[in-house]
Amino acid sequence: MTTPRPLIAGNWKMNGLEVALDEARAVAAAVDAQPPAARVALCPPATLVHRMAQALVGGGVAVGGQDCRAEASGAFTGDVSAEMLADCGATLVILGHSERRAGYDETDALVAAKTLAALRAGLEPIICVGETLAEREAARTLEIVTGQVRGSLPPELAGKAFAVAYEPVWAIGTGLTPTLAQIEEVHVAIRAVLVERFGAEGAGVPILYGGSVKPSNAAEILAVKDVGGALVGGASLKAEDFLGIIARA
Ligand code: PEP
Repeated sequence: MTTPRPLIAGNWKMNGLEVALDEARAVAAAVDAQPPAARVALCPPATLVHRMAQALVGGGVAVGGQDCRAEASGAFTGDVSAEMLADCGATLVILGHSERRAGYDETDALVAAKTLAALRAGLEPIICVGETLAEREAARTLEIVTGQVRGSLPPELAGKAFAVAYEPVWAIGTGLTPTLAQIEEVHVAIRAVLVERFGAEGAGVPILYGGSVKPSNAAEILAVKDVGGALVGGASLKAEDFLGIIARA
């Protein structure tokens, strides 16, 4: 099986007004001028998905959402469905981010339902998993992370494009990162579950690392066994930083 291109995806979280599209345009201009080894995606807040997709149409940077509702439509005030994201031009969606698992009590079962919604709408899901600091200190990291992978990935993903993102909760937005050995240990464990679940196909699913990735640490993290890309928060907001990470993939 050929190794898929790494995926470098930016998660803008709740950041960005129209003027921020200039950063996305700058990323796209550089990517289109010199196509990198990695696939590149930006996931802006829902308010910018359509405008960013329009601004980047036809280029090498894909646009994604940061969450979706499991249902396609209905009386769910304030929510956005996978179909709505696709209608806006998104081709990917981040699901189960720890900020949603913690802030909105998202369970593995709900993340699995949202994953089915993403597939229904033709979106490529990026499904996030990761342990808290307390869980790591209690030596429960592998148990927690592999449990989240088993619970959040429905069997319907077989034959579909998707990625898993390992994001230790304590490394997100903190400037802290696990050691390379710790990253490898978790990615190898996730890979084993993917192979157990999806057979040979599971060997090719990109497993992104996320948590304080920046240009200065991207090369060493992306070189770790079974790291197939990065999910980048803060450093994806500025084109220069994000391009610095993309260049190291
Ligand atoms: C994230 O929110 O997915 C993330 C990895 O954030 P940061 O890169 O800022 O740690």
